[in-house]
Amino acid sequence: MNAAPKTKESGKPAADQDVIILGTGPAGLAAAVYAARAERHPLVLAGPEPGGQVSLTFTIENYPGFPDGVQGADLYSLFQKQAERFGAVVDFSSATAVDLKSTPFRVTSDSGEFQARALIVATGASSRLLQIPGEDEFRGRGVSYCATCDGAFFRGKQVMVVGGGDSALEEGLFLTRFASQVTIVHRRNELRAGRILQDRAEQNPKIRFLLETVVEEIRGPDSVKSVAVRNVASGKADVLPVDGVFIFVGHIPNTSLFRGLLDMDEKGYLRVDNRMRTSVPGVFAAGEAADPTFRQVATSAGMGVAAAISAERWLAENQK
Ligand code: NAP
Repeated sequence: MNAAPKTKESGKPAADQDVIILGTGPAGLAAAVYAARAERHPLVLAGPEPGGQVSLTFTIENYPGFPDGVQGADLYSLFQKQAERFGAVVDFSSATAVDLKSTPFRVTSDSGEFQARALIVATGASSRLLQIPGEDEFRGRGVSYCATCDGAFFRGKQVMVVGGGDSALEEGLFLTRFASQVTIVHRRNELRAGRILQDRAEQNPKIRFLLETVVEEIRGPDSVKSVAVRNVASGKADVLPVDGVFIFVGHIPNTSLFRGLLDMDEKGYLRVDNRMRTSVPGVFAAGEAADPTFRQVATSAGMGVAAAISAERWLAENQK
């Protein structure tokens, strides 16, 4: 009953699919493993950031099954290998348009046009910007959103980390491998990060905290040289010399492609029911694009699995 593998001999994905999955983070690739094992030969469009946030994370210590932790890039590669082993085809392109008005759904990517009877949206989330003067100007010249990618450029230098969540502390700890000092700037007097990370950061001699403080401007002239900050309690302003600013102030779901097509909340997270169904029958969503609450690697993978099972049931029930 299931269709033959949907890969052309050229190695290019066929235009017609049972299932297209958008995204190669934990949600997308976990969905791909399940859809592939159901012999639906899913086409997975990798998106602009293959592997999603996982591939930008140095070590992941809380994904079950890895008692000693696992490097983000390795976990991504394992996810992909497992999906491909069962017949998923990963295409390194990004969806640029979708037409969900009728089935088969149409997906346009920078590598071609595809059709699918079911769609799983696992487009994840991207770093939120601070939106302050200098942030855009010095991006790549001292301003970064990825310690794993850029940390090594700051060997022996002073860096600032903005944010008080798990990402800020985890990435700040990672940066102590290279930087001489890491100043974590957080807008409140209480960190949002979990206790283990807080304890580790507080015990690290290279880390200092600047609480109740906001960053108002990042200054050059050619690359980052200093940052203007203000204490929100006292109102006192200061200018601190730093060579790099790493910004970890949360994420924004990558769902703009679906605005007006799928129901989403006021922050842009896709609304799904407990079977990962979106507002359009046959379209499912999983991972951080649809999860304002948990946003963990394991929960995203779990949502991907659920979406794939639901998609399979939907395809079977609709005799496609
Ligand atoms: P998050 O938990 O949303 O934290 C964002 C931080 O940025 C908060 O401290 C927030 O301040 C601050 N912030 C937001 N907008 C700001 C602005 N405009 N100016 C200054 N500060 C701003 O985001 P996250 O740390 O990226 O974590 C996302 C999810 O991934 C969470 O569920 C987290 O648990 C998970 N995660 C887990 C791990 C781990 O378990 N090892 C590692 C990384 C991420 P407020 O606190 O005042 O809101």
